[in-house]
Amino acid sequence: MSTIEPASQYNSVLTGREEINAQLLIMRVQPESALFDFKPGQFAVLGLMSRESRVPEADDEEPPAAPHKMIRRAYSIASSSVEKRYLEFYITLITSGQLTPRLFALPYGGRLLLGPKASGIFTLDHVSPGKAVLLIATGTGLAPYMSMLRTMLVTDTSRPYVVLHGARYSWDLGYRAELESLARLRPNLTYIPSITRPDEDPHFRGYTGRIQTLLDQGIVEALSGVPLNPAQVEVFLCGNPEMARFAQEMLALRGFTASRGKEPGSLHVEEFW
Ligand SMILES: Cc1cc2nc3c(=O)[nH]c(=O)nc-3n(C[C@H](O)[C@H](O)[C@H](O)COP(=O)(O)OP(=O)(O)OC[C@H]3O[C@@H](n4cnc5c(N)ncnc54)[C@H](O)[C@@H]3O)c2cc1C
Repeated sequence: MSTIEPASQYNSVLTGREEINAQLLIMRVQPESALFDFKPGQFAVLGLMSRESRVPEADDEEPPAAPHKMIRRAYSIASSSVEKRYLEFYITLITSGQLTPRLFALPYGGRLLLGPKASGIFTLDHVSPGKAVLLIATGTGLAPYMSMLRTMLVTDTSRPYVVLHGARYSWDLGYRAELESLARLRPNLTYIPSITRPDEDPHFRGYTGRIQTLLDQGIVEALSGVPLNPAQVEVFLCGNPEMARFAQEMLALRGFTASRGKEPGSLHVEEFW
């Protein structure tokens, strides 16, 4: 009988590690063999053995994880699909979670598992050429949009793209500098960051309030010139399921219908948990 040492399932290396803050990490993962193709918006699977170290701020594991278990989770790819050397991920630390306390403790050069393919239908595949795209995210829900924008904005200079990114504080707005500079270079991109805890972040000069409120008050339409009308725009929602539910309810009143599997719709939703 052959037994496979589970750590030999590791097939990639952490080649980039940028801490946005103690809870938010941008990771670059380079496979040891050729990288699979993917569509912007898709996700991949990362994995680490349960015996790997965890960050000190992680909650106690009760009961302790069995040492030979491979912990796998899905993560949206944030890098361009044209980039063939590595995949980038934008990950939030869940101190009570199994994988993220181990991912956050993984040093530069550390090895990990990358699943064999990308999956998911949260892509721009079915958006008709004449329509604008409104990309709405909370937290790390921005990741699939970074892949879309980094891939599409190189050549697509006509379709209007709008990014509405909500976070608690301005220091949680990962990729803000890149998005601000992309929006300066590409007039067809409007970037709207918003924070929900302005009292604790008084120097932030941007929009404040929840995503649903910005949509309701017409701020997104006013800033981007894109009407919230399903004939003219397709909306993507990614991140916190509560935000996705509220935004869906609000957009349904404007005539947006959710796409389900292969059934097309003007509203596309990816929930992270
Ligand atoms: C298609 C898909 C794409 C995903 N892409 C990303 C991504 O790009 N970046 C990312 O950070 N996560 C992403 N996730 C979530 C990710 O798969 C894990 O669930 C997350 O990292 C927690 O893993 P964990 O093992 O540490 O915690 P677990 O032990 O799996 O879970 C602990 C609990 O934490 C809660 N939880 C999970 N994620 C969050 C969160 N972000 N905020 C608050 N509570 C949460 C859930 O209630 C969960 O039951 C994605 C999930 C899916 C399904």
